[in-house]
Amino acid sequence: MTNETQTGEMTDGFNLVIDALKLNGIDNIYALPGIPITDLTRKAQTAGMRVISFRHEQHAGNAAAAAGFLTQKPGICLTVSAPGFLNGLTALANATTNCFPMILISGSSEREIVDLQQGDYEEMDQLAIAKPLCKAAFRVLHAEDIGVGVARAIRSALSGRPGGVYLDLPAKLFSQAMDAVAGKASLIKVVDPAPKQIPAPEAVQRAVNLLKSAKKPLILLGKGAAYAQCDAEVRALVEKTGIPYLPMSMAKGLLPDNHAQSASAARSYVLAEADVVVLVGARLNWLLSHGKGKTWGSKDAKEAGGQQFIQIDISPTEADSNVAIAAPLVGDIGSCVSALLAGLGSNIAKPPAEWTGAVSEKKDKNLTKMAETLAKTPSPMNFHSALNVVRNQIKAHPDAVLVNEGANTLDFARSIVDMYEPRKRLDVGTWGIMGIGMGFAIAAAVETGKPVIAVEGDSAFGFSGMEVETICRYNLPVCVVVFNNNGIYRGTDVNGSGGTDVAPTVFVKNARYEMMMQAFGGVGVVANTAAELDKAMTEAIASGKPTLINAIIDETAGTESGRITSLNPTSAANKK
Ligand code: ADP
Ligand code: MG
Repeated sequence: MTNETQTGEMTDGFNLVIDALKLNGIDNIYALPGIPITDLTRKAQTAGMRVISFRHEQHAGNAAAAAGFLTQKPGICLTVSAPGFLNGLTALANATTNCFPMILISGSSEREIVDLQQGDYEEMDQLAIAKPLCKAAFRVLHAEDIGVGVARAIRSALSGRPGGVYLDLPAKLFSQAMDAVAGKASLIKVVDPAPKQIPAPEAVQRAVNLLKSAKKPLILLGKGAAYAQCDAEVRALVEKTGIPYLPMSMAKGLLPDNHAQSASAARSYVLAEADVVVLVGARLNWLLSHGKGKTWGSKDAKEAGGQQFIQIDISPTEADSNVAIAAPLVGDIGSCVSALLAGLGSNIAKPPAEWTGAVSEKKDKNLTKMAETLAKTPSPMNFHSALNVVRNQIKAHPDAVLVNEGANTLDFARSIVDMYEPRKRLDVGTWGIMGIGMGFAIAAAVETGKPVIAVEGDSAFGFSGMEVETICRYNLPVCVVVFNNNGIYRGTDVNGSGGTDVAPTVFVKNARYEMMMQAFGGVGVVANTAAELDKAMTEAIASGKPTLINAIIDETAGTESGRITSLNPTSAANKK
């Protein structure tokens, strides 16, 4: 077939791509085979890589993104040209937005025909289209450049602020033969792809001075801190300073959510009242109300001199993106947090008891209220009673990964389900995107080998539901819990025209989602009560079998847009 098999001294594009990835410690590929990359998936598997083959490229891409977040190695998504590439591109853009390292590798059609727009099979100028949607994009035309192309892609994805990279590999490249010895020599093992970035001493001193002056300090942990895998340093910063901390959703579990210093249950209070906020790998974007407005700076806080920020981030341009940052600390989180701690000295004064006491009081009050709500067992289940089951399951299995998407299903889970270990919560992230569910769940199972629990709104599940076949095919320990309330937000909307179509937000009533898993040999269960849900989850986790639990939720329980109602142009909150 190839020269390689004839002489044993030649190699080709296929093998060089595989060898380049393997040389850099990349073992898994999330793919959807087809022209021109079908043989690449076969050969990669033959060469000992794990190739997880999907039903739609977007989910392969989401899996690669989650793999990148979990492992600090770029997750690889492999697609065909034009439409396959475009399907993967959504995931690449999402990975870039979330600062997850990922490489989308797509086969492409003949350059000569594409550039003259002569109408090739799946013709598209993929490189140009990818460029604005990712961190970097490269095309390799010659087999001897594959090593450089893969190295550049890896370095671009991992260095500085991580993100998505596009690598365009035209069909002709794969069959290009070259001398095997020269081919091997052309490959690059990337040295130190995410070099430590030590913060400048003056910047550290500025931050130390500001933090020492604080009367109501707060630490805000973002998913950048989770990604950085410097869990001991982050924990030391929190515990040695005694400052209350707030985790963003994917930073939950960096310290266990039942930690005495967690201010999650007093979120509104601390955001409004803190005088100095240390942002650790968290951006002041919409998820934090851009650092201003009603959420931030109560009247008291303003009268006391306002709120000031210390921002730890690897990206120097992140500071001042929404509000003034008094003390930017640019560098990798491990180095910055260590430098800050060192700067504070060995005898760190604890924050005033007036502040920590007020936070605790607020927190205890809210936790008591929450406990009362969670103790109820309404029939049918509502979001709270169903999530209380999930909460107890995660408590019993803290090493399980929780994937979470939906509107109400997401918002309530974020506050109800405590996490105990770092990087165990994967959710809709910076865009609040729906459709990450099964892709993230598959990557979590493949990369961690731990049980995965995917808590999905019925609408959210629909975006990636077909991938339950993938879960069954690879026999992954994934338990999908569909919160079935018959529709988007809730299942009770009516058609305003009085016509026979149901309202745009309503689904088929009493849909049998569990049968989707059964169709492919997995376990499907209906849960009408909290006890039934608990039993089904216990069995799923114990057996490790692919399971889908159709959890029947009161169709009147949800609210419009969950907790982001204010972003809805016609919502009451936006009407004057
Ligand atoms: P969240 O949504 O949890 O608040 P964001 O995604 O908004 O988190 O913010 C993550 C931030 O972390 C980004 O600004 C990114 O530049 C930063 N970041 C990512 N990795 C590192 C790292 N290793 N060191 C420092 N900062 C990092
Ligand atoms: Mg719903």
